[in-house]
Amino acid sequence: MSNIFIALGSNLGNPKEQVKKGILSIKKIVGVKILNESNLYETPPVGILNQPNFINAVIKIDSDLGPYELLNKLLIIESVAGRIRIDKNGPRTLDLDILLYDSLVLNEKKLTIPHPRMHERLFVLMPLKDIDETIVIPTHGAIIDIINKLVPENIIRI
Ligand code: AMP
Repeated sequence: MSNIFIALGSNLGNPKEQVKKGILSIKKIVGVKILNESNLYETPPVGILNQPNFINAVIKIDSDLGPYELLNKLLIIESVAGRIRIDKNGPRTLDLDILLYDSLVLNEKKLTIPHPRMHERLFVLMPLKDIDETIVIPTHGAIIDIINKLVPENIIRI
């Protein structure tokens, strides 16, 4: 069994509901047990600015699925949620990212763990810290130190 953290984000089609439905869909994956859920956060978009705010959350799961097996399940959940990928950083009904998978470090295009941009994104780090503020992100360090070095952003816990 493994300790895995997954980030959820949505800014289309009732984003709060999309994130909650996303968590329920992950709960239904055979071989996955949800251990903890963060608060929900409302966060301004990054990159493409003229799009709705995002709702973000992080969950901690326990699973006997390997990282690629898990990714494939998450990609199916994303596509069922109706995600159409037009622009990187553009609007989306549901985005699911594997943040951490135990202390695994993977550097493939198909799957990079720790998630390659998680250490620069407060909308990921804040909900992750809700669950465990002692987390050390492989190759980046303690979550508290990383958060303290970032410029504060307008991220609202809802
Ligand atoms: P994006 O649309 O930016 O979320 O990118 C989705 C693609 O990123 C997926 O098709 C995955 O193959 C790839 N990917 C690489 N690393 C990860 C990760 N840690 N979690 C989720 N997807 C990833």
